Amino acid sequence: MSKTGQLQIDGLKVAIGKKDIIKGLNLKIKSGEMHIIMGPNGSGKSTLLNALMGHPGYVVTAGKVLLDGKDILGLTPDKRAKMGLFLAFQYPREIQGVTFGNFLRLAANAVGKAKDKNSKPYGPMDFYPVIKGRLEAMKLDSNFIGRGLNEGFSGGEKKRAEIVQMGILKPRFAMLDEIDSGLDIDALKVAAKGIQDVFKTDKPGMLIITHYERILKHLTPDFIHVMADGKIVKSGGVELAKRLEKEGYDKFIGL
Ligand code: ADP
Ligand code: MG
Repeated sequence: MSKTGQLQIDGLKVAIGKKDIIKGLNLKIKSGEMHIIMGPNGSGKSTLLNALMGHPGYVVTAGKVLLDGKDILGLTPDKRAKMGLFLAFQYPREIQGVTFGNFLRLAANAVGKAKDKNSKPYGPMDFYPVIKGRLEAMKLDSNFIGRGLNEGFSGGEKKRAEIVQMGILKPRFAMLDEIDSGLDIDALKVAAKGIQDVFKTDKPGMLIITHYERILKHLTPDFIHVMADGKIVKSGGVELAKRLEKEGYDKFIGL
């Protein structure tokens, strides 16, 4: 039984302060699989992803998270990133004084070095064409390279900038939190194409949170999960997303 190429979550419980939010969650994601989580607001979807990434505000009170068989729960977020975990935030933070280009170049160099000690770090000049191509694919101007990280980016631009990051960092497991929220129809197509391209090219495991069935038309998910009150209450194939869109969540919760 090979344990490599999978992110395994067993009996996970997560609290914020004294409040239990994730209440015993099991999920296994293999490399090359795309999993979608849908569910009502407040069910703990963002809490799950933040806890998996190692955000210090989210306290794991029970359970295990194994990345390629290795327990990651004691590791800081940057160590998890170096092991190939990536999170595109629901609300990407604005950071002043760090340009998008430098931030991403240094992140790519850190992750590259963790993968291969002898890898040659990008200098600003050789990184330029790499990031420029990714920006173009996401219909973002090359002046984003010199702008503060997420600073003054519109909601949709922030989301597409997260996809630029994912494309360059090439994570083994990518988690995307409401990547389609705040995108108009055209931007949604661009974003979905970017996600699908990374999925097909790099074959990471993917965990995508969305409220909308419409993005799934552009993606090739293997599994749909419904989350409610800190647990996965139902799992199925793409047809489940269609039923959710038509019938709403109520029917699936309390099953
Ligand atoms: P979802 O992403 O599914 O909408 P969240 O994970 O954001 O849900 O939130 C789950 C629950 O945790 C909600 O009841 C929310 O109010 C609560 N919560 C989230 N963040 C915090 C926080 N920083 N402090 C206290 N409660 C929080
Ligand atoms: Mg959320």
